[in-house]
Amino acid sequence: MELESKRHKILVVDDSAENIDALDSLLKDDYMLSSATSGEMALQMAKKDLPDLILLNIIMPGMDGYEVCYQLKSDEKTKDIQIIFVTSRDEDIDEAKAFNLGAVDYITKPFKSLQVQARLKTHINLKAKTDMLEKLVSLDGLTGIYNRRKFDEMLIQEWKRAQRHDALFSLILIDIDHFKQFNDNYGHAQGDECLRKVAECLYAFASRPGDLVCRYGGEEFGVILPNTGIDGAQCVADNLRHQVETLYIVHEYSQTCEHVTISLGVAAVSPHDEKKSPHELIETADSMLYASKENGRNQVNSIELN
Ligand code: GH3
Ligand code: MG
Ligand code: MG
Repeated sequence: MELESKRHKILVVDDSAENIDALDSLLKDDYMLSSATSGEMALQMAKKDLPDLILLNIIMPGMDGYEVCYQLKSDEKTKDIQIIFVTSRDEDIDEAKAFNLGAVDYITKPFKSLQVQARLKTHINLKAKTDMLEKLVSLDGLTGIYNRRKFDEMLIQEWKRAQRHDALFSLILIDIDHFKQFNDNYGHAQGDECLRKVAECLYAFASRPGDLVCRYGGEEFGVILPNTGIDGAQCVADNLRHQVETLYIVHEYSQTCEHVTISLGVAAVSPHDEKKSPHELIETADSMLYASKENGRNQVNSIELN
């Protein structure tokens, strides 16, 4: 199974080379291992290599294991790395502190080899499954692009980021023209196939890092364009319109064109204006989409919120 086949990365953190060697010989056949001999070194390596799991000693000269754990959990980049303390401290209070800091497990020395191997395997597999489920809840089952849930999440996240950096921000809403006619005449399976092709095309042509294309509803799509003003967004939207039209998906029942086309609404904003909201941006893009429909479909209308 895929979950089993990937060799996961484990970072062993201990100031004693002997302890590192013991864990290394136990785990090297199943995992990609690296080691750090101080807390400071562990933080650096964790940020650079992003291991799946860290085996962390508590008592070390300089930064101790608790502090390393705290710092890793406080950093967005490293907060999801699983941490297991491996320590000779076996007081309840130490264990409680470790779990409170976000560790997933606590192994006391001297450890039993089989137990360490089994616990690691359990944590690694659980994490892989959680990651997979998290990914799946963000994706649209039919088209494979992001779904509405992810769109809502990213809209808020990118909005806040744009506020912090005083950056521009744009949104495109897209709706396939006369799609009911397409479905009614060619059947639902062909309709689904058309949705897949349009989604793939939008994804391919709104592809700057940070751009997010999602299926917003039935035959509606949304594109979030961070760091993009009205001119740039209009340009992306014009290109998307053109690219979908030139997929040449035959649609004899469209009153607009012989092929499948899309209508688009674009809204751009500077989110640092406290009076503006993501909701207002959606409403505005939607009203521009409505204008595109009213004015004959297969076109883009855009506006900048002031
Ligand atoms: P307009 O140009 O004004 O957008 O007209 P339209 O026909 O595209 O809009 P309308 O909202 O009347 O119809 C949308 C249709 O999209 C209705 C439904 O048949 C189809 N649809 C929605 N979701 C799916 C889906 O998952 N698969 C398929 N095959 N069709 C879907
Ligand atoms: Mg619609
Ligand atoms: Mg439609």
